[in-house]
Amino acid sequence: MRALREVLRDWEAVIGLEIHTELTSLETKMFCGCRISHDDEPNTNVCPVCLGLPGALPVPNEKAIEYIVMAGLATNCDVMKRSMFYRKHYFYPDMAKNFQTTQGPVAFVMHGHLDLEVSGEGADERPDGTITKAADGSYVLPVKILRIHMEEDAAKMVHVGGAEGRIGGARESLIDYNRCGTPLIELVTEPDLRTPEEARLFMEKLRQVFLALGISDCSLERGSMRCDGNVSLRRRGSSEMGTKTEMKNINSFKALHDALAYEICRQAEVLEGGGRVLQETRHWEPSRRKTVVMRVKERNDDYRFFPDPDLMPFDLSDEFVERCRRRLPELPDARRDRYVATWGLRCREAELLAADPQAASLFEDVMGVAEPAEAQVVANVMVNLVPSYGSLGVGQIAGIARLLAADDITFVQAREVLDALDGTDDDPEEVVEALGMRQSADSLSLVVDEVLGRCEDQVRQYRSGNRKVVGYLVGQCMKASAGAGNPKLFNQLLLERLEG
Ligand code: ADP
Ligand code: MG
Ligand code: ZN
Repeated sequence: MRALREVLRDWEAVIGLEIHTELTSLETKMFCGCRISHDDEPNTNVCPVCLGLPGALPVPNEKAIEYIVMAGLATNCDVMKRSMFYRKHYFYPDMAKNFQTTQGPVAFVMHGHLDLEVSGEGADERPDGTITKAADGSYVLPVKILRIHMEEDAAKMVHVGGAEGRIGGARESLIDYNRCGTPLIELVTEPDLRTPEEARLFMEKLRQVFLALGISDCSLERGSMRCDGNVSLRRRGSSEMGTKTEMKNINSFKALHDALAYEICRQAEVLEGGGRVLQETRHWEPSRRKTVVMRVKERNDDYRFFPDPDLMPFDLSDEFVERCRRRLPELPDARRDRYVATWGLRCREAELLAADPQAASLFEDVMGVAEPAEAQVVANVMVNLVPSYGSLGVGQIAGIARLLAADDITFVQAREVLDALDGTDDDPEEVVEALGMRQSADSLSLVVDEVLGRCEDQVRQYRSGNRKVVGYLVGQCMKASAGAGNPKLFNQLLLERLEG
């Protein structure tokens, strides 16, 4: 197969995602009062409703509807005044009532978008004008969201003693109904994505938004967030849609990227060989680094969709929607913009901090005690140094930033100070004293004298007008001090000597 980059020169990939998120922050299931839990003994959180016993009647979980409306508002969706639950029929023991309760053509929230910041490379080659260039030179791709609907999860099945994942090949199949009836929201994008990288960025960004909303733990490893990737190819310049394949239940960002990349190359090979892409559901196998066919696409009418007669249509009131709107926290993009506006942070650090609710709250706590002018240094310390020092206190981070901002220590030395601080509640100032790190002009002067003594050539060049050799001399000083000196101070001392 050809490499992705090469394939994408001839073909345009068209990608749409369906992302499932379990609302793990809820205490109870979608249509009954059973507890949601990942760790309990199998089949302990069950009742006639989630076991699908005849005659049991569902009662919707209002909190779950609040969460899906918040998810919709956070992704610029319209809240539908009226929507309904439907029955989607299928036969499989993971859903004992033989249908999944899900939503029909009208979902609770629809027609939104989430803006992606995409890198410049290739971004300006989108001829349809869907990518706009922001003032700071970055590109913004608004990815349209078709809908977010509510549905219920099925039971968990384990097939033992035979071929994995196939009832036919297993001696025994075990069913745990604890998960059955857990509320899931499914977000469906329009096919607006064009590369595996954009698809990964979208899922990462959505995860950050949902984390900020606090509606789910969004754990890809544990399966509380998972994704189906749809992809088709068309010749560059064409606006027709090709036949797509769908990859089910992708459970990591890397797998999403790699599965799409593989599938794009596979489809290109099929098409270039004169073949046709079949509309299939495929499965990504990370260990074999390929996708394999699961089944040929089923038709929608096989499911016998119809409105669930046990559940009334929902008419969401304006008050309800307003209450959800008031509950929206500050979202990552708004927080990033606030960091840039308030403290003049560079975009990169602002974005990284704002994306992670824990990092963001720690940063704001530090800024409660640090000088506003030191904000960028605090951000540098947190982004580049702190992730590996989980036990650092607010005062310690502020202290390190103060020492760095005052040029008392270098970034290399800051790492050593952090090592020494790890797990203690010591004061960074004292650690710097104890380690004898504080850079006095005196100790650096000795290094400068030594370097100037052996670099007569460069000194002569400087005096005859070549100011650029200072860079070389600073480099020599850094080398002589084994990286411990401060380049700014060296520069200053060198200029004093050379001009004097
Ligand atoms: P299905 O009925 O197969 O589930 P949908 O029309 O519901 O298909 O779309 C599912 C997902 O696939 C959506 O994210 C949509 O954007 C995407 N999609 C639809 N058609 C295509 C296509 N031709 N190529 C790539 N993605 C597509
Ligand atoms: Mg689908
Ligand atoms: Zn139940």
